[in-house]
Amino acid sequence: MSNLPFTVPACDQPATGRIEIYSPDPAGDAFGSLDASVYACGSHAGGVIEAASTVDLTAYPIEIAPGVERTCGEFYVYRTGNFGGDQ
Ligand SMILES: [Zn+2]
Repeated sequence: MSNLPFTVPACDQPATGRIEIYSPDPAGDAFGSLDASVYACGSHAGGVIEAASTVDLTAYPIEIAPGVERTCGEFYVYRTGNFGGDQ
């Protein structure tokens, strides 16, 4: 299973934003690899960013796409990223 290297704060509220999670590349670019997206409500977005930073990941909040309905705490791990399952 693919999973995140940090615990995502979550509740049952609809997510209001999507937070892209990047890991650094060997050259030190903080946005080296887009590895996951986390959905969060307004009160948990900050917690997601904080949790990512504790494991040296960069969190980049963006607007949720129109028509996309997600619950706070849902996340998606990109198979091609550093946390993908098939490595
Ligand atoms: Zn929440």
